[in-house]
Amino acid sequence: MQIDPTPEPIVEDDDAIRAAVADADVHALLIAVAHCTGDLSILRDDLQPDPEAMLLVPDGGLSPERVAEGRAIAAAALAQYRDAGSPPAPVPTTDDLRAMFDFLIGAPAPEEYFTLLREELAVEGDLRAPDWHKDDVAPDVEFSVAIIGSGMSGLIAAHRLHQAGIDFVVFEKNEDVGGTWWENTYPGCRVDVPNHLYSYSFAQTGDWPQFFSSQEVLLDYFRTCADRFGLREHVRFCTEVTRVEFEDADQTWQVYTRDAGGKVTTEVFNAVVSAVGQLNRPSMPAIEGTDSFAGEWFHSARWRDDISLDGKRVAVIGTGASAVQFIPHVAERAERLFVFQRTPPWLVPSEKYAEDLPDGMRWVLRHVPSYARWDRLWLFWRTHEGLLPMAKVDPNWPDQERSVSESNDMIRQLLTGYLQLSVPDAEVFEKILPAYPPIAKRVVFDNGTWGKTLLRDNVELIADRIDEINEKGIRTVDGTQHDVDVVIYGTGFQASKFLTPMKVTGLGGIDLHESWDGDARAYLGITVPGFPNLFLLYGPNTNIVINGSIVYFSECEVHYLIQSIRMLLEHNLESMECKSDVHDAYNERVDAGNRAMAWGASSVNSWYKNASGRVAQNWPFSMLEYWQQTRTPDPDDYVLR
Ligand code: NAP
Repeated sequence: MQIDPTPEPIVEDDDAIRAAVADADVHALLIAVAHCTGDLSILRDDLQPDPEAMLLVPDGGLSPERVAEGRAIAAAALAQYRDAGSPPAPVPTTDDLRAMFDFLIGAPAPEEYFTLLREELAVEGDLRAPDWHKDDVAPDVEFSVAIIGSGMSGLIAAHRLHQAGIDFVVFEKNEDVGGTWWENTYPGCRVDVPNHLYSYSFAQTGDWPQFFSSQEVLLDYFRTCADRFGLREHVRFCTEVTRVEFEDADQTWQVYTRDAGGKVTTEVFNAVVSAVGQLNRPSMPAIEGTDSFAGEWFHSARWRDDISLDGKRVAVIGTGASAVQFIPHVAERAERLFVFQRTPPWLVPSEKYAEDLPDGMRWVLRHVPSYARWDRLWLFWRTHEGLLPMAKVDPNWPDQERSVSESNDMIRQLLTGYLQLSVPDAEVFEKILPAYPPIAKRVVFDNGTWGKTLLRDNVELIADRIDEINEKGIRTVDGTQHDVDVVIYGTGFQASKFLTPMKVTGLGGIDLHESWDGDARAYLGITVPGFPNLFLLYGPNTNIVINGSIVYFSECEVHYLIQSIRMLLEHNLESMECKSDVHDAYNERVDAGNRAMAWGASSVNSWYKNASGRVAQNWPFSMLEYWQQTRTPDPDDYVLR
């Protein structure tokens, strides 16, 4: 995989160009062609997407005739571009960028989004790179940062600190970078956000083989980024952080690590960045008798390729996003497969889910400069708020346990129709129809495979609760015993137990987990009162449910981190500690926001809620708002020392 590959010159004839662009997204194509040719006149008003239709309707709501016309115009312009020798695309002027954004959005681009869109597009360069360097700000001050984890978020922190000239070490418990994409190797594992969007703004590529690429491809991307940005040499692999302790006397952090050989080391840093993820530690269900099972068992996040499933009787517990991905593969190998479902997921139809990019689109990605960037921005815009409005609770809507508003109910009807089509068997359909509102739990993307799998002769969907696991298998509450050879736990992660199993002690020796008491909270998901210079990435209430990409959030969080360090260095400060009142007021607002969303209002269980039922994971507001709030730290929010 190549990051930002140099476009290949066009040598194909007109027919070949016309054939290739037929596979491209017409709006990303038109705007990328306008960009590389400098001819913005092709961005005609009658080819603009319809802002109301762009999320749910293909081709931005254009008629097939208009789509064909748009492609023909783009193909003709590309032929001229070829004849001119395929020169590099110019950097657009600010006015041109505005005109291009206006075209893509289908209306004048809201002013408050302009800088954000520019950053996401990054066609003028990496606009989120720190615009300062430690050598200029505080050349004589020593300042070092420990980053815990080299997954998607940790790599951003490492890259930005590197750019700012700050000393840092990344501690990684695994033997490679990639975090969740290194750990989850189960068959069928793939990203469920269109992965042109699930990528860094500063490391864009059109080198994706599929619309939703597989785990191997994602891992390759993160490895490539680590190499490309020179981060690997800063990572201590196979080294787990077990404890971090704040030293009040000198305002530093002691970081305790254990390497693969069990050797314990302590080092001192000025700041600690936790990039350990939310979906990291597997969750084993509290079912009686799990230890008594005599056969083989494993969790989906610790997949055991050495345990053959061929011809075996297999039980899978769970039907969340992971299980729905691997169950079809298990069904192909097992002699008999019992799927134990506690709560069915809502399925969102996605025809392209496992499809390769068509050849024409791959050609466009390789030959049309910046097509990949505009395609990514187009995806960003269409999905940045996504279905969020449809998750908002209308307090006057009746029967809130079924749906939370008129538009949520419309989604319910659409998705119910899809389930009915996928599973014509009435008995199975009844089992898989969720009783709770759409978007109250994570929706699962499906290309028809789930229904087909459940209807296989060797698969049985069991919706009765599990009573116990015993030596021979699983018994449900109706008394039925299912003898199996292998149990696979698709039971998710300990998402609410942020930063476990590390021990974290702050000012005056307070323990982070004791002070959270099972209810993790942070200001902006990043800073916590009592824990100066501790910065969390993908911390409490920074997860998104139905819109955007989590990479965006991590980029915002890291921006805030870098600006915070700048503030410390510029003002010759040692530490910043979030004020309790600021933190509490912020959390009250977030809680109220989450209570007004389907995932907070519905009584359905999900990994979004902690043991007390509070939504500790999700951000209920807009993507824009998170970006605005993380532009720069407000010194008034902090006790500065
Ligand atoms: P999950 O969504 O938490 O699903 C866990 C499943 O196990 C649920 O069906 C749950 O039932 C079931 N379960 C848990 N305890 C149980 C018990 N005691 N008895 C019976 N069933 C039990 O975990 P996940 O599937 O690993 O996904 C977690 C998140 O990771 C996703 O929501 C998504 O954000 C992310 N993910 C993303 C991708 C991707 O991008 N492709 C893939 C996988 C995961 P209940 O629903 O009743 O709790």
